[in-house]
Amino acid sequence: MSIIIQIQPNIFCENCKECGARPVIEQIKDKFIVTCPNDKKHYKTKPGLINVDDWNLKNRIQKPLIMTSIPAQKAS
Ligand SMILES: [Zn+2]
Repeated sequence: MSIIIQIQPNIFCENCKECGARPVIEQIKDKFIVTCPNDKKHYKTKPGLINVDDWNLKNRIQKPLIMTSIPAQKAS
């Protein structure tokens, strides 16, 4: 039997990188899992303390570094 807890809006957390949903906290007895509300197969943290940091780390969308190449041309 698990309880789903909404994360307070003032707490920053990344959205699920698979489906874009805001994560929820699932409480199983005295353990907490930060998980996706839509699909159990999406990333979830290990049971234990509420670990939003770990969730954020794993769901951060990797933005590729944009290589800005400045043309080596002088404006004439
Ligand atoms: Zn998801």
